Amino acid sequence: MAMAGLVMNSYKIVLLDGDGIGPEIMTEAVKILHLVASRNDVEFELVHASFGASAYFELGHPFPDATKALCDEADAILKGPIGLSHEESKKIPVDMQPERGALLPLRRRYNTFANIRPVFLPKGLAHFSPLKPEIIGDGIDFIIIRELVGGLYFGKKEAGVNAQGKRYVIESLEYDEDQIAAIARVAFETAQKRKRVLHNIHKSNVLRSSVLWNEVMMEVAADYPDVEVVHILVDAAATYLCLNPGQFDVMVMENMFGDILSDQAGGILGSLGLMPSACLGPDKAYYEPSHGSAPDIAGKNIANPYSMIGSVAMMLEMSFGMEQESKNLWQAMQSVFAQGNSTPDLSKPGDDVKMISTQAFGDLVAEELAKL
Ligand code: NAD
Repeated sequence: MAMAGLVMNSYKIVLLDGDGIGPEIMTEAVKILHLVASRNDVEFELVHASFGASAYFELGHPFPDATKALCDEADAILKGPIGLSHEESKKIPVDMQPERGALLPLRRRYNTFANIRPVFLPKGLAHFSPLKPEIIGDGIDFIIIRELVGGLYFGKKEAGVNAQGKRYVIESLEYDEDQIAAIARVAFETAQKRKRVLHNIHKSNVLRSSVLWNEVMMEVAADYPDVEVVHILVDAAATYLCLNPGQFDVMVMENMFGDILSDQAGGILGSLGLMPSACLGPDKAYYEPSHGSAPDIAGKNIANPYSMIGSVAMMLEMSFGMEQESKNLWQAMQSVFAQGNSTPDLSKPGDDVKMISTQAFGDLVAEELAKL
């Protein structure tokens, strides 16, 4: 409760509910934001805005101007997943489809070049993972740092018909040294706060882009002599994630490698529903689950909102400096699972768990947080 005369911190948060399970898991995140505001010296102005396929169908554009204006003014953006099933997405022209028409423009607009994806499963929850307990050991705990505004997803594109009458496409994997140095610094600074080992993921045996990536990575490394750099080819890294995830602490990689390996990381935890993320730019950050809109389970109250509530925990720490409340929130989420509960993505019928809904997970997290 704010005391008379004291200035209360006030933040405007734009909520992009998104598609599929987006609105369901956003509801649980909003529940937590209200609770956080009620027990801290902080005020959140929450504004919903249209984004994604739903925005396209309602307003004719997946990232409408009104949403852009709200995001421009926001202190932080909390984004739900967007997208449609493969079949449904054909109802939208290619350039208006949610990733091309909304997500990439959002990232470009705020230059959110640093995507931070924590991959965490304590030993006590090893039963959620498809990996054997002996591989999980003391638990899974590492961070994927993915460059988010360069590479193939943002490079020049060309498609047409060639002189032989064949359809062709060209997409370029583009980086300049400043882009690589910027994400390298984020990675080294993160490693300095953890175990001081940085796994640099690349494909320099084939890709020229990775040769430059590695060169710049090692130039930046000179400023962080206390951090050991370990180079791993991306294909080998995919294997090690399954065979020995314990070797990783901080991993850094370019955009598409990070897209793919972080989904694999969700897989070794047991579900993408355990994958929150932060997307940080120089002036603005947005927070989103790493996964998509899960159309296969939308509207059933069975999606795991951990990824969305975890994104709130990251926002509290990274955008609002509320470290302690962020820690409390992580602890509350872990306690819900530690008490024997599971969302349906993490367990199967017959497992020794109490299966709970999306809404129940949010309620229980709120209950646990209120105790801390
Ligand atoms: P997806 O990540 O939506 O789902 C993959 C699998 O994980 C599905 O079985 C789904 O049910 C499950 N899953 C994902 N999140 C879950 C959660 N919170 N709780 C429980 N289970 C969960 O991937 P997809 O099916 O390939 O893509 C669906 C749509 O999402 C596509 O249109 C895709 O383009 C889009 N997408 C958007 C983003 C984003 O908004 N950042 C990211 C990835 C994919």
